[in-house]
Amino acid sequence: MQFHLNGYHPGDPRYSDPKDAIIPSPTPRPLPNKCDLVIVGCGPAGLNLATQLSKFSEITTCITELKDDRLLVGQADGIACRTLEMFQAYGLASQIIQEAYQISEVGFWKPDPDQPNHIIRSSKIDDIENDLSEMPHVILNQARVHDHFLDAMEKSPGKLVPFYSRRLIDIVVDRSIEDYPVTLTFENSVIHPQPSERIETVRCKYAVGCDGARSQVRQSIGHELIGDALNQAWGVMDVLLVTNFPDIRLKAIIQSANEGNIIVIPREGGYMVRLYIELDKLKEDERVDRDHITTEILISAANRIISPYFIDVKEVVWWSVYEIGQRLTTAFDDRKDGNEPRIFLAGDACHTHSPKAGQGMNTSLIDTWNLGWKIVHVLLGRSNNWLLNTYAEERHAVAKELIDFDREFARMISAKPKSLENPDGVEPEEFQKYFQLFGQFTAGVAVQYKPSKIVGDTKHQDLAQGQVIGKRLHSAPVIRHGDAKPMHLGHCVTANGAWRIFGFADNCEPMSPACGIRNLANFLAADSSSPIKIHTPCGSEIDSIIDFRAIFQIHHRKLERSKLHPFLTPPKGRYGLSDFEKVFCVDHAPGKNIYDTRGINKQTGCIIIVRPDQYVGGILALSDFEGLANYFSKVLTKA
Ligand code: FAD
Repeated sequence: MQFHLNGYHPGDPRYSDPKDAIIPSPTPRPLPNKCDLVIVGCGPAGLNLATQLSKFSEITTCITELKDDRLLVGQADGIACRTLEMFQAYGLASQIIQEAYQISEVGFWKPDPDQPNHIIRSSKIDDIENDLSEMPHVILNQARVHDHFLDAMEKSPGKLVPFYSRRLIDIVVDRSIEDYPVTLTFENSVIHPQPSERIETVRCKYAVGCDGARSQVRQSIGHELIGDALNQAWGVMDVLLVTNFPDIRLKAIIQSANEGNIIVIPREGGYMVRLYIELDKLKEDERVDRDHITTEILISAANRIISPYFIDVKEVVWWSVYEIGQRLTTAFDDRKDGNEPRIFLAGDACHTHSPKAGQGMNTSLIDTWNLGWKIVHVLLGRSNNWLLNTYAEERHAVAKELIDFDREFARMISAKPKSLENPDGVEPEEFQKYFQLFGQFTAGVAVQYKPSKIVGDTKHQDLAQGQVIGKRLHSAPVIRHGDAKPMHLGHCVTANGAWRIFGFADNCEPMSPACGIRNLANFLAADSSSPIKIHTPCGSEIDSIIDFRAIFQIHHRKLERSKLHPFLTPPKGRYGLSDFEKVFCVDHAPGKNIYDTRGINKQTGCIIIVRPDQYVGGILALSDFEGLANYFSKVLTKA
């Protein structure tokens, strides 16, 4: 899609008249007195959490924001592969991919050894390694990411719409109150113009501070961000420009000899570009305090860095001076003295880091992707409160790794090239190696949660070597049996809060008495210790808590539907219609066999348990019914 040719317009670019893309602000309304969950902050972390919760109409959720309306431009723009896998679970990935810029290659530029005031390209590499994810690495305005969430929230059963113009002033927990122990106090800037009438309070069971780096929630519960308060300052500009720089439509990392460094990030729509310009290398007379930096200063610095090329900026769409250090909060929730957590922190409220590795929005999104289903489980009585402790345990470890990574990444990207005068500098080749080495990390797929009640041990890891326990399910192509549709197996892990049991068939004749899938289906359908029978409430859909799916090695045309176990085409809905989307066969096209690509044992098959957030919770032998029942009995309550 090409858009923004004659100037930037916020909103959905599918509208030909930008005026039609303007979404009116929601009608101001008072906050509820009580609800199950309050989310403070409509950044990526808060909106993602609200979108998950909006899938459950039984839960009352309220999301508040201090600004008067939605974001229209600016802030972060990188969407990592892992984040798009999450968007797929909401059904949003294809729209985002269509609209976004896709990063395929990265160009590295360095000073020309023959003419050090000029830059030359040192190399071009692939942005991500092959088969890291079925999803690309894309770039899209954070404002549009917000729009997609806001749209999905409103269309969901919970029909969630944010309460704007609410500044959180304080949050307290009274643990002597059992039902709604958390009280949040807001100042309302719109509905009651009289200062005395501006205060509103909401009581709730749980609250989540997604209120950014200066989080009031964090301060109210007595936590701090610890680390380097300030790092290097970079100017960031989204611009429409004319240039002769050849890599303007590629991500480019440019190191000049003496004028500083630039990162070029091409943007959605085919014309817009983001430039990150290092500010420490500004000239003496330009290096005034950050409040006096102007776009002219940034453009002039950019022109010096990319010489002999030039940029001629026609429109500055958004710009900012982004100066932030690597900091981590002292805790991710308000647990103290063995109490259960009632207040959580997520996103920039817990961790801040440089924008250079593009992790701010992505890590914030995956924080609440981790937290959302756990809150749903506890509020709906599917699990006991201990589940909520795993949020801080899992995400604190990830944030710590990110901060350590970012410190080194930021140092390398800002370094001067190595030379006699600058022996501590970094060669572009060295940075390129680091970039490639940590490709899985920046793509968001390196995260591995430690063994716990929800992440099993590694005893049977060898049955599926490419599906690492504690890492996200690494999707691969399969053929859906019912309609012969080639698709990705991971795409059936949608954001509905359900667990998945994927049964990978052994090499026996499908549905013969020895077939492991047939025996597993018998167990799950009828045995008194079946986790599906034990944990699914009467009257709920059979796949609403644990969703059983099977993958066969046989060609899909050779597997007759009449032979399938009835539990694999379960009746659902008010009419008892059969669900034909539970059975898959291997895609026999070259390089696509999921058993080969993900190291699944063809002789024995296996069971893979996948958490609602798509992480592998455990791998078991196909016949280990007791292990399967035990796993779920530790996590889920009896229905
Ligand atoms: P945020 O996006 O910060 O959202 C927090 C929300 O909470 C905000 O909407 C805020 O208004 C609201 N809020 C705050 N206090 C209160 C309160 N008391 N009551 C109610 N609501 C409250 N990242 C990059 O990768 N590249 C960039 O160039 C870049 N530029 C940025 C520029 C700016 C000006 C900012 C603020 C951030 C930028 N970021 C950038 C960071 C990136 O946007 C964040 O990492 C990401 O948005 C984190 O998401 P979040 O939801 O945790 O927090």
